[in-house]
Amino acid sequence: MNVDQNLAVTDAGTVVCRSCEQTLGTRQEPLSEAISREQPSTEAGPGIRADPSQFSDPEIVLRQKFCPGCLTLLSTEIVPKEEPSYRRWNLAEVPAADG
Ligand SMILES: [Zn+2]
Repeated sequence: MNVDQNLAVTDAGTVVCRSCEQTLGTRQEPLSEAISREQPSTEAGPGIRADPSQFSDPEIVLRQKFCPGCLTLLSTEIVPKEEPSYRRWNLAEVPAADG
C-alpha cells in the first residue's frame, strides 16, 4: 500500500522507500531507520529569511529525515531544538467500527 509519494507499507507491515525499496521502519515507527539531520532553521531555504533568535528564546532547528538507500527527503519540520519531534507517524491499521 502506498502511503505517500515516498513511502509504502508491505503486506508484512514494513515501511519501505518507494524509490529504492530500502526498509525505513514499521507501521508503528515508520521512519525509525531513516537518516536524521538537524541544522539551523535558516538553512531551510530562501523562504526562511529571518533568524528565529530575533523572535524566539528557544533555539529553532530544521529537522529532516532521509532514506538511507537513496537519500530521498522523507520529512521536514522546523521546531524548537529541545522539543521532541512534533510529527508522530503511525501507520497502524485502525480497527473497523462495529455496527
Ligand atoms: Zn530510497
